[in-house]
Amino acid sequence: MPGIAHKLIRATESLGVSAVSRLLHSQDLLIVMYHGIMPESRDWEHWCQIPADEFRWQIQYLKKHYEILPLSDIVDRLTNSRPLPPNCAALTFDDGLQNNFEVAFPILRELGVPATMYLATGYVGTDKLLWQDRVFAETQAVDSLELDLSTHGLGVYCWDDDVEYQSAYESLLATLKRLPAEHKNRAMRDICRQTPDIEPDDSVRRAFQIMTWDNAAEMQASGLIEIGPHTVNHEILSRLSDERVEAEIVDSYEAVLTHLGISSSTFAFPNGTRNDFDARVMPAFRQCQIKAAVTTVAGLNSRSQPLFNLKRVGIGSDTSRAQFRAEVSGLMDRLRKFRPTQSVLHDPACGPTSVADSVQDLAATTNLATASSR
Ligand SMILES: [Zn+2]
Repeated sequence: MPGIAHKLIRATESLGVSAVSRLLHSQDLLIVMYHGIMPESRDWEHWCQIPADEFRWQIQYLKKHYEILPLSDIVDRLTNSRPLPPNCAALTFDDGLQNNFEVAFPILRELGVPATMYLATGYVGTDKLLWQDRVFAETQAVDSLELDLSTHGLGVYCWDDDVEYQSAYESLLATLKRLPAEHKNRAMRDICRQTPDIEPDDSVRRAFQIMTWDNAAEMQASGLIEIGPHTVNHEILSRLSDERVEAEIVDSYEAVLTHLGISSSTFAFPNGTRNDFDARVMPAFRQCQIKAAVTTVAGLNSRSQPLFNLKRVGIGSDTSRAQFRAEVSGLMDRLRKFRPTQSVLHDPACGPTSVADSVQDLAATTNLATASSR
């Protein structure tokens, strides 16, 4: 976060503005988004991996100031016109990383806090990393490299130090995310061909390892954790054919049902920005009786927010405690109005909003405004 923005947050925080903002937004729904929780320190940085001690502080803070409910319970209340408590919140974890089970779950169980975990089901119980995490694992382990992807029309990516690496990695990942899935997969195979001798750092591999079905079943049996679908292959849905959009949603949902007997009635869009999904998801959602879907679009949910476009507050490794309080209270939404390019989290490849608008049209009949009597 830029220094000026951080100072502004600290200044407003010291004046108690977050507490006032929380009061102003007490009727909004807060959905917090996590990915990985790391047990130990490491010498690399990744936005998705948060230290366990910070995570514990964040959950204790949320427990003190919010009523945390399972997301599917919240959606049930909304669709049945039952009221939500003020300052209502839900916790979500995307991808199904094994450290959700090994590190986050014991903390959630100790504090008695419910959460929803979304699994990319094709990776569960395997030693494969999500393709996005594989790009990181394949490239982070070397000090210098030249990746020639010009035969795919993607140019050359090279670096000789950490600063150059960060820039090249972010540019490469953003480029791959924008491609149709088949094009991206060809480029991924080429990246692996060009890095045959690179062994991912052990701590990187551990951090991005996906959980097993037994892990998921044990958490579900606790009654605190619900498991939901997050596609099979963690593909960005708008980059797929109609048939594959349906298969990624339906097959993922059915895998959760088959292995666990029950699935959350909610879904998480991979990558989740406004141009990462479109109206083609709706038939599959109806088939699976999915009642709501979460995006990575930043913010709290007002009463007019469609249930298939739920916004979230994304927490990353660079989220300070002052920023955390500002994010969850809704204060950051207000500050972002002065910095509109920051309104979408976790994807440098965000683009036009027209495709999601069509989802909003489809979903407009079921939203917080019509369903909630809070
Ligand atoms: Zn994901």
